[in-house]
Amino acid sequence: MARISAFTMDGIQMLTCRSCGEDTLHPERYNIGYNYCMDCGDFRAREERAGWCIAPIAHKQGATLVTNRNDLKGLNKYTGE
Ligand SMILES: [Zn+2]
Repeated sequence: MARISAFTMDGIQMLTCRSCGEDTLHPERYNIGYNYCMDCGDFRAREERAGWCIAPIAHKQGATLVTNRNDLKGLNKYTGE
């Protein structure tokens, strides 16, 4: 159980984020299975994206971190989805 803090936002009592310890975890978010706040969630999402979004765009450079969706679309032409 997340600790219920005294901090409220728009009348909603925020819970304590397990990741950063700030009282920024929205109860709705907790209800759908998160125990960390939006900031930490975004941070993790970025980390995960960096993990799987590695594709051999430029052969000379080896694996390239893909940050542009259009790059991925272009790649699909050659890999077939
Ligand atoms: Zn957090």
